Amino acid sequence: MSFDYDLFVIGAGSGGVRAARMSAQMGARVAIAESSRVGGTCVIRGCVPKKLFVYASEFSHAFEDAKGYGWTADNVRFDWNTLRDNKDAEIDRLNGIYKRILKSNDVTLFETRAVLKDANTVHLVDEGRDVTAEKILIAVGGEPIRDESIEGHEIGIVSDDAFDLPELPRRAVIAGGGYIAVEFAFILQGLGVETTLVYRGERLLRAFDREVGEFVENALREAGVRYINNCVFTKIEEAGDVKRVHLLDGSEIETDLVFWAIGRRPATGGLGLERLGVETDRYGAVTVDEHSQTSVPSVFAIGDVTNRVNLTPVAIREGAAFAQTQFGGTPSRMDYRFIPKAVFSQPPVGSVGYTEEEAKATHEIDVYETDFRPMKNTLSGSSERMMMKLIVDRKTDYVLGCHIVGEAAPEVIQALAIPIKHGIKKADFDSTCALHPTAAEELVTMTAKREA
Ligand code: NDP
Repeated sequence: MSFDYDLFVIGAGSGGVRAARMSAQMGARVAIAESSRVGGTCVIRGCVPKKLFVYASEFSHAFEDAKGYGWTADNVRFDWNTLRDNKDAEIDRLNGIYKRILKSNDVTLFETRAVLKDANTVHLVDEGRDVTAEKILIAVGGEPIRDESIEGHEIGIVSDDAFDLPELPRRAVIAGGGYIAVEFAFILQGLGVETTLVYRGERLLRAFDREVGEFVENALREAGVRYINNCVFTKIEEAGDVKRVHLLDGSEIETDLVFWAIGRRPATGGLGLERLGVETDRYGAVTVDEHSQTSVPSVFAIGDVTNRVNLTPVAIREGAAFAQTQFGGTPSRMDYRFIPKAVFSQPPVGSVGYTEEEAKATHEIDVYETDFRPMKNTLSGSSERMMMKLIVDRKTDYVLGCHIVGEAAPEVIQALAIPIKHGIKKADFDSTCALHPTAAEELVTMTAKREA
């Protein structure tokens, strides 16, 4: 039986584009459909514009810090429209690059929503026609959620909207305590927005090492964010030009912007999965095996839609492994061990490997840690500190995890993730000469250990 294509990819985000491009390079006839903009969440409304906003926000601290070094930085002003428009221009540029990648690799792009019709047929909604493919790859990602049980929930924006606000609000209230809530609390506060963060739990960044969460919480308060934990919204209402958020403790906050940052869900709604019998889990995520194959053999899924580890580089690697397995003749799979993670708080978090809590459950460990004021902050007068933590297996001396909060932490962790993933001992850190004067030299001079 002949098909229109060897591979049809639904969703042109980071994972889908990588799978499409590599499969085409390996000789497959490939098409891809995208209902929004090519580039997906990361490029269009996620990691990339977020990081640009983080840079923008960090300048507010830099102007302050500069004074201790002799600079006069009076009357500095921030213009939201300039940032937003320049960000848009950069995203347009990246969108163009992604489209050119597809074109130069002979991948046919359909700018339409696509849904599954049968195990080898995709319906192109805007074009009103079907195309067939031997293999179909679902790479539609996820979408931000609101708590729909809360009256007035629709008044709140989600991260998708945060990048295109017509104007910067004077005040904002954010719900959540994960990546997006923390990153945007710092971004908005740094840009001059009076920001309140309302988190339902005890400690922010619950998925990270406990001390990382506590450190970030302190930094958030130092930055001027009002932080309320063990609390949730109970109602949101519009009151003239302002919005009023009602909290579980009976209090109310008047604000100009309400922001839901309470997680994302796989964007599987209306894709036609049930019709085909493609299994999903209770969160709506597509169930796949280690080669990203679904319960329907011709249908595969990668990235956030599978809700494995929802990070761009993971989706890219899953896409690459799919292409190598299906069209490159080399069965490959993503290795989920020691994936480095970052939170672009201010200062940022970089983390790889076991948290202290995870390591304690399976190993006897020693913890080496340091918490200090980086040299830059001596003259700047900033109270910002830096923390580093190494989790070491007491029996083997192998470093199981490293957690850093401080300037350039994600950059340091990316480099450290290589030896930590492949096995490095604390003694190897100790035998490596320090690079002076840096903050990272603390990593090779840590001696004070505590039993965990
Ligand atoms: P997260 O899963 O990181 O955090 C969700 C937060 O919302 C948690 O603190 C959770 O509380 C809280 N929450 C969940 N449901 C409710 C509710 N009904 N009411 C109040 N609070 C609630 O999700 P994010 O939205 O921050 O980010 C989504 C995903 O995007 C991340 O998991 C990550 O995969 C990705 N991402 C990665 C980034 C990076 O790599 N730097 C940056 C941004 C996003 P609790 O802790 O109690 O569960």
